[in-house]
Amino acid sequence: MKLTAEQTTRALNALQHFAPIECSVCKHKEWAINDYLFEVRDFLGGGLTVDRAIVIPLVVLNCKTCSNTLLFNAVQLGVVASAG
Ligand SMILES: [Zn+2]
Repeated sequence: MKLTAEQTTRALNALQHFAPIECSVCKHKEWAINDYLFEVRDFLGGGLTVDRAIVIPLVVLNCKTCSNTLLFNAVQLGVVASAG
């Protein structure tokens, strides 16, 4: 799902509490927020099961120097209300 401008602003405002975030790989502190919201789901034996899956929506940050990736729970950041 593509983030709206409002959702991007909410994510960036929430992440400001941790700024500057130092990259654990290259030690630089410049990040790009991905335009899309991603998700991880629980493993249910390898099959694609949608109706019973636990889904965690994620805001993705990429280090502008080394491309290290950070994942933040979008519900906890206040970007989306819930996974369902
Ligand atoms: Zn980096």
